Amino acid sequence: MRGDYHLHTTFCDGKCTPEEMIRAAISRGYESVGLSGHSYVRFDGGFGMTAPEAYRAEVRALKEKYRGTIDVFLGIEQDALSERAKGYDYIIGSAHTIMCGDGYITVDYTPEYVAEGVRKYFGGDWLKYTRAYYELAAEIPQRTGADIIGHFDLVAKFNEGGRFFDEESFEYKAVVYEAIKGAAAGCRIFEINSGAVNSGYRSRVYPAVFILKALRELGCRIILSSDAHDAGSVGFIFGEMAELARECGFKSAVYLKPGGFGEYSLI
Ligand SMILES: [Zn+2]
Ligand SMILES: [Zn+2]
Repeated sequence: MRGDYHLHTTFCDGKCTPEEMIRAAISRGYESVGLSGHSYVRFDGGFGMTAPEAYRAEVRALKEKYRGTIDVFLGIEQDALSERAKGYDYIIGSAHTIMCGDGYITVDYTPEYVAEGVRKYFGGDWLKYTRAYYELAAEIPQRTGADIIGHFDLVAKFNEGGRFFDEESFEYKAVVYEAIKGAAAGCRIFEINSGAVNSGYRSRVYPAVFILKALRELGCRIILSSDAHDAGSVGFIFGEMAELARECGFKSAVYLKPGGFGEYSLI
């Protein structure tokens, strides 16, 4: 494992400072690390960065401070509905919120809130809801300029055990395959992301195995991400995620190095 590039800090909804996250990456023996604060969205629920200039200045200063110890990269987790980001080393593009007429649903907020939104805006039709999410997810590259696509099936965060919809159904998979094709046309690197396992919502990582296999068939590449909001979660279950990637046919994973993306073997 070379590094972790999906990390949140006190500049957005994380619990630790950028320096604490970097030090955690050093203690894991990584050669590089990336911070990826949430972009601000206009209906923000308190998770986006309200001081992106200060964030950029601090991460740039830390990049200098730790030069020779670890390569630090300045990233952003750019929401599909945010204004286009500028001035970052890399962009993780993610869809968190879907517009529903005058309202919206933030798909990873809480199960009760999402269930209420699906009743209110989709008449309780979960397939329709997932379709709305994936229509947006397919547009992540054009909307965000993503170098990496974040947690592609975030919409399934609260669906452990098929609580709300059937992730194995032909209808759901058809919606997802269509979105993968759309997204992969604009960005070739997708995350394997352990965030929902760490928070206890899911027993599996993002995205589902059938999605990983489809990505593999399309020749897409993967990057391991913890989506950590605290220093103790940096690199969370990276060993298991690497094993899963191997089982899905990936022979390598991507990491960040000076000048761009590199690849390391998983075998
Ligand atoms: Zn996210
Ligand atoms: Zn995140």
